[in-house]
Order: sequence, then structure tokens, then C-alpha cells
Amino acid sequence: MGVFNHAEFDDHESLHFFTDQPTGLQAIIAVHSTALGPAAGGCRRWSYASKSDALTDVLRLSRGMTYKNAVANLPFGGGKAVILATDSAPKSAQLFAAFGRAVESLAGRYITAEDVGMSVEDMRHVREQTEYVTGLPQSGDGAGGDPSPWTALGVFLGIEAAVKVRLGKDSIDGLTVAVQGVGHVGAHLCRLLHEAGAHLIIADVNQDSLTQISAELPTDIVAPAEILYANADVLAPCALGNILTSATIPKIKAQVIAGAANNQLSTADDGARLSERNILYAPDYVINAGGIINVSHEYHGDSSDDRVRADVDQIPERLQAIFTAASETGRPTNELADELARRLIAAGSNQQDASA
Ligand code: NAD
Repeated sequence: MGVFNHAEFDDHESLHFFTDQPTGLQAIIAVHSTALGPAAGGCRRWSYASKSDALTDVLRLSRGMTYKNAVANLPFGGGKAVILATDSAPKSAQLFAAFGRAVESLAGRYITAEDVGMSVEDMRHVREQTEYVTGLPQSGDGAGGDPSPWTALGVFLGIEAAVKVRLGKDSIDGLTVAVQGVGHVGAHLCRLLHEAGAHLIIADVNQDSLTQISAELPTDIVAPAEILYANADVLAPCALGNILTSATIPKIKAQVIAGAANNQLSTADDGARLSERNILYAPDYVINAGGIINVSHEYHGDSSDDRVRADVDQIPERLQAIFTAASETGRPTNELADELARRLIAAGSNQQDASA
């Protein structure tokens, strides 16, 4: 299949393939849009079933970043990177340095950060080769480092907003939340939910992640294949995307879906399927923007934790506006969010053109 005809291509501005023989690096950097600023989005290291799956993933994630950054009012366009995790390219300082050189070669059109499969430590090696990287520990009280606690906070506030609309509850106390994936974001989210009085049902394919969080908090663990259909008020997907499909949606019991994972809907039509079942879906890139908000503050060096918190606090208000529009129009929340994002991007590019 030609890249230009790819179903997820969506007029990407540019797409870059990198290899590095000594380390075995194979990476793709997708720049979807620089209309509102340099394309910012994390780097995912993942073992894909095929190279074509990696391409589809990076294209979908990259477009999602354009929309996420626009709706969060950040001075960034959208991009994303994937590193193909293979036996011939094991994790190493050299591998991440090679990726850093790839980022540097784009001269600031793309700014990277960590995503699934990457750690703050890995980002340090990337940073040795390029300044176009965020997600690094800061000294003093400035924002920076692992963005996932901020993502988790935004998701928590978003769950509160969704629960109010769909269940008429002012608090999460006593509700049951099913969390799919208890990695960086999922584990932080579990702590916040537990503090707020929620009962937790969790699943993860990684036993260590499960052991860690269940040693800390009371949780019911279920098999990964069962978590989407758990008897819960809220489903919080915090693993990977493509989980809300024509096959899974009919079996979901939760009345609210609100979580951190990117690209939760398999296709845009799945948003309509959720709406038809009266399941309130918090559009993923709206609710999970806490991390990129923190990253933006870190990158622009203009922030304290208080400033980041003030911006993350706007996430529930944005969701609320989308939920209200959905209930007034009967339209799916994902469609309304996409429309809002496209409006903001068009307005921002017009402004940039006018000031050029
Ligand atoms: P992570 O890699 O730390 O955690 C993901 C967890 O999901 C892992 O523990 C993994 O074992 C688990 N998992 C994978 N497949 C699973 C399955 N089928 N069932 C159950 N568990 C499964 O990643 P993270 O940083 O916590 O990010 C989680 C999601 O949120 C990703 O989709 C990511 O793109 C998105 N996101 C993260 C951030 C952030 O700040 N880290 C920001 C925005 C969006």
C-alpha cells in the first residue's frame, strides 16, 4: 500500500523513516501538522506485529497529537515517533542516542517526549543528542520529568466531570472503576481514585505492574480479557488504543468511559456506537492532555507546578462543554471534539498567516 493512500495518512506534512545499523534502530517520526507550532508528541517503543502496524499506529497517534494540542490551547502542532522493539534492537543508551540524532536531524520540526515503553532514563540518552526533547527531571520546583502524574490527574478530574453528567454523582466515593493497564498513568490514577473512595478493578498484561499496585492499594484483579466488560460504573482505559470496537462495545457494562489511552476508538463510528448505548465517552485526547500540558510548560521553561495545575484544571471544563453539546445535539462526543479541534487549528493557522 502506498503511504499517501494509507487510510490514516490524513495529509501528514511529513513522514520520516530512520535506521541505525550498529544499534538496530528502526524508528518512524510522523509530523502531522505544524500549523500551531512545532509538532510535539511522545515516542513509543513497542513490539509491533508488523511494520505496517507500526506505521498505522504512528499516523493515528500523530494526528491525535495535533488535535490534543489544539484543544489544550498549546502552542504546538502534532507529531509522534515509534521505535520498533525487536530482538535485534534491544534497549540501550546507544539505541536512544541514535533516536536522539534522528530527532535532531528534523531541526525542531518535531519535539519528542516519553510515551509507552520509554522512561525518563531513556529520554536522558535522547537528550544527549538533541535539545528537542522534554520529559526530563528538573531541578527546583519547576514542571518537568515524568508527565504521567499530570496525565493521571487530568483523567481523574475528567472522570469526576463525566460521572456528574452521566450518573448525577458529585463524587467518585463508592463508585467502581475498572482500570485497564496499571503502568505509569494507570497506577497514579488508581491512587487518586482510591483516595477519593472508589473501588478498583484492575488488569494488566505485566504481572510486576499488577503486583506493585495491589501491594499498595486494595484492588480486585481480573484477567486482561475481562477488564473491558467488568461490572463497573466507569471504565478507564490506560493501556493501548483500538479497544473500543464493534465487537467490544456491545459487551461493556460501564456507563462512563474515561481514561488515558490514546486512540481508544477503533474507528470514528465507534463513538456513535457508544452514544447509541448511552455510554458517555470522554474523548481521549481531551481527557489525557495533562502530560502534554506539563511537557509544554517544561519546554517553554515558563512554569511552576501551580501553573501546570491551573491548566490541567481546565480539562474537566472542556469535557463539560463537549458533554453539554452532546446532550443538546444527540451527537457523539468524539465527533464534537474533532470538530472543535479542527476549528481551533483553522483559526490558529489563519492567525499565523496574518502575522507572517
Ligand atoms: P505504560 O507503558 O507505563 O503503561 C501501560 C500499561 O498497560 C503497561 O503496564 C502494560 O503492561 C499495560 N497493558 C498493555 N496492554 C494491555 C492489555 N491488553 N491489557 C491490560 N494491560 C495492558 O504507559 P503509560 O505512560 O501509563 O500510558 C498509558 C496510555 O496512556 C497509553 O496509551 C499512552 O499513549 C497514553 N498516554 C500517556 C500519557 C503519559 O503521560 N504517560 C499521556 C497521554 C496519553
